[in-house]
Amino acid sequence: MARYRESVCRLCRRENQKMFLKGDRCFTDKCSFERRGYPPGQHGQGRIKFSEFGIQLREKQKIKRMYGLMEKQFKSYFVEAERVKGVTGANLISLLERRLDNVVYRTGFAASRAQARQLVSHGHLLVNGKPLDISSYLVKKGDVLSLTEGSKNKDFIRLALEAVKRREIPQWLELSAETHSSTVKDLPARDDVTAPMEERLVVELYSK
Ligand code: SF4
Repeated sequence: MARYRESVCRLCRRENQKMFLKGDRCFTDKCSFERRGYPPGQHGQGRIKFSEFGIQLREKQKIKRMYGLMEKQFKSYFVEAERVKGVTGANLISLLERRLDNVVYRTGFAASRAQARQLVSHGHLLVNGKPLDISSYLVKKGDVLSLTEGSKNKDFIRLALEAVKRREIPQWLELSAETHSSTVKDLPARDDVTAPMEERLVVELYSK
C-alpha cells in the first residue's frame, strides 16, 4: 500500500497544528512544531492567504494525515459516511476512529498510529481472541482487543502504555492494563474526538 515517506513533522508544520504523529517525541522539546511552528519551505515564514478552496483542502489534508491515510482510502470513508444515516461529517470522523490502527493507538498499545499499524500488521494483535492483521478493520461495539502472549512484555508496548497516561483514553474504550486488553464499550461519537477538526470543510470540499 502507498505510504507517505517524508518527514512527518513537516506535515504538522504544513497544517499548522501538532498532529502527534511521532509518539513520545511529540511531548518533548524536540518537537519540530514547537521549535519551528511555521510551514516548511522557503516561503514558510511569509504571509500565506488561503482561498476558500485552499482552506477546505488544508483541513481535508490535515484530517487525512492525522489518520495516516492516502487520498483514495480517505475518499472511500467519505463515500461511506455519505451513504449511512446521519450527519456526513460526524459519520466520517466516527468511521476513521473505528479503524483498528486508531483504536490500538487510542487504547495505548502504541505511541502513534503509525506504530499501531505496524503492531497490527506484524501480528501482535488479537480481536475477540483471534489474530487480526488488517489495520482498516472497523471495530464493532463489544469487540475486545488484546495482545498475543509473546507481545505483552515487549518494551515498546510497555512504554506506550506508560505514555498513554499523558493523553486521555476515550470513554468509548475500556483498557485493562493487567490483561493487556481493551473493550469497545460503544461506537465513537463525534463529541468523543477532541482534536481540533472541522470536518464540515471536508464535506464542502468533496461536495463541489
Ligand atoms: Fe508533529 Fe510530533 Fe513532529 Fe511535533 S514531534 S512536529 S507533534 S509529529
